[in-house]
Amino acid sequence: DLTIARFDPELSAAMQAELRRQEDHVELIASENYVSPAVMEAQGSVLTNKYAEGYPDKRYYGGCEHVDVVEKLAIERLKALFGAEYANVQPHSGSQANQAVYVSVLKPGDTILGMSLAHGGHLTHGASVNISGKLYNVVAYGLNDKEELDYDEVERLAREHKPKMIVAGASAYSLKIDWARFRKIADEVGAYLFVDMAHYAGLVAAGEYPNPVPFADFVTTTTHKTLRGPRGGVILSRAEHEKILNSAIFPCLQGGPLMHVIAAKAVAFKEAASPEFKAYQSQVRKNAQVMAQTLIERGLRIVSGRTESHVFLVDLRAKRITGKEAEAVLGRAHITVNKNAIPNDPEKPFVTSGIRIGTPAMTTRGFGEAETRELANLIADVLDAPQDEAVIGRVADAVKALCRRLPVYSAS
Ligand code: PLP
Repeated sequence: DLTIARFDPELSAAMQAELRRQEDHVELIASENYVSPAVMEAQGSVLTNKYAEGYPDKRYYGGCEHVDVVEKLAIERLKALFGAEYANVQPHSGSQANQAVYVSVLKPGDTILGMSLAHGGHLTHGASVNISGKLYNVVAYGLNDKEELDYDEVERLAREHKPKMIVAGASAYSLKIDWARFRKIADEVGAYLFVDMAHYAGLVAAGEYPNPVPFADFVTTTTHKTLRGPRGGVILSRAEHEKILNSAIFPCLQGGPLMHVIAAKAVAFKEAASPEFKAYQSQVRKNAQVMAQTLIERGLRIVSGRTESHVFLVDLRAKRITGKEAEAVLGRAHITVNKNAIPNDPEKPFVTSGIRIGTPAMTTRGFGEAETRELANLIADVLDAPQDEAVIGRVADAVKALCRRLPVYSAS
């Protein structure tokens, strides 16, 4: 018997415990989701055995005739989903997809203009600790006084610094991003426009968030967030950039592609083209609005005032609790969130004054508006009384009951 349970009980116990955690905690981390059994079936398949360096019909290994079919399916589905001329499905992660875009057209020392990490951008958009911040000369933009993306600042910095590339996209920004405005600014200074839509891709696929593909020279996304596929990345672009992007991924940054993950991406892209996925994304957005509104009614402040997507940041200062404390106490109540700096946060990055809340995962398990309202009130109950063990215990029981009623994978 070669099951993990028999062969490796120690590992199996940790895997079983993680399954239980996913089932009996409500997941509000905005970048997470629960994939379908079909996605997991592809990822756990014999395709993991195959080396396939190169691209379909141009491989450096024999025996690639079947994985070629798999990769072509993934590419064609992805292109159709977002209306792109070119797609690369090989990036092992969002970070590697972003790096490939940079190395395809930039040289070390070139200037890029990206959203500041402190205002909601991603590490790979030029943070000093990331390779993007070490190789390139980074200029950063952020939010204005209304906590909306400061397009005037983007324009001013672009004129002043003449970046070779402008990076748009965010990890913690709740509003719609005006891709057309970014295009206009990029054109004005002769910069490439690169959009990282990792957080919004599922909403974009469903028509619930503006599609950057018609506006950007390069678009990347992770496949595991709102898009609800396996962990990984992809790149979209116009046909003219095929050669430089393909060679940036292989052989510049990666070796053999993960064919089992590419098969799982193909499954996810087929799912994302379905009417059910459209309805799902619409519910993700509705739930985020209900959650934000209920927290506002309970005395909390939402950064940017509202959400137009799956995500928002909560300013906790009114409740005199830090992001770090809130994350810990909500965790004890079976509610998983991550602490997150708010714009101009007075606390250190490891403490913060905020939490980030996202609705993709809980909506996958079937939470509708009624459950979302109940959950938001439970969150507020904990934040109102973070020292009160009775409250924490009552909320944990209520959350567990919701989770039992709406299981992820099994009713057990
Ligand atoms: N881009 C954005 C906007 C993200 O939010 C993230 C992940 O959090 C990434 C890229 C990086 O993706 P990965 O973790 O797959 O490297």
